[in-house]
Amino acid sequence: MPINIAIDGPSGAGKSSLAKKIAKELGYIYVDTGAMYRSIALFVIRQGVSCKDAKSVVSCLSDIELSISYIDGNQRVILNGEDVSDYIRTNEISMGASDVSAIPEVREFLLETQRQLAREKSVVMDGRDIATVILPNADVKIFLTANDRCRAERRYAELVQKGMDVTLEGIYQDMVNRDKNDSTRKVAPAVCAEDAVVLDNTGFDEEQTLAAALDIIRKAL
Ligand code: C5P
Repeated sequence: MPINIAIDGPSGAGKSSLAKKIAKELGYIYVDTGAMYRSIALFVIRQGVSCKDAKSVVSCLSDIELSISYIDGNQRVILNGEDVSDYIRTNEISMGASDVSAIPEVREFLLETQRQLAREKSVVMDGRDIATVILPNADVKIFLTANDRCRAERRYAELVQKGMDVTLEGIYQDMVNRDKNDSTRKVAPAVCAEDAVVLDNTGFDEEQTLAAALDIIRKAL
């Protein structure tokens, strides 16, 4: 039976980095569900449609074919045959992803793809509703979080390293807005599952976070 590990939490907590490292350590597949919402936002924006215009976003869905593949263990998202992984990390796409992800039809569109991946293989899946909606029977559920400032500083460092022209204050505001959007939406709000273990990694580096997560996983499995 495949083992399923769910990692949820707010933006900038380091879910993707952690999930990637756990997957490598345990030999599982890493699934970044945020990248799927981001790819839908990219498609919608490219069509000249607003991500807030739910009706138009829903009508785009029938033209979208999404799949994921792996190169050297890194997840790539394929949107209608094009590898869009390098175009989905901008702030505009982050906000767009948050808007499209509040639309029930968009969540429904991705639900089966995500569940199917977890049925086929042992996965470490990261997102906002993995433990609550997508994989309620996951073997391990971790809610990864850190204080707002710490998360904004991490996201800022990541984007600066990619050569993006951003300010810490701008990132902080976008992050707070996005988290509010995500945690207060009607469908699948980004909340901690009742049976998840909370891992607050404020002040931790990536290695310390990994060690703490592996400890939680070993105790649970
Ligand atoms: O995790 P990431 O920052 O890439 O996610 C982008 C956006 O996609 C989030 O702000 C959230 O609105 C949405 N998302 C979601 N459910 C998931 C993963 C991401 O609603 N499982």
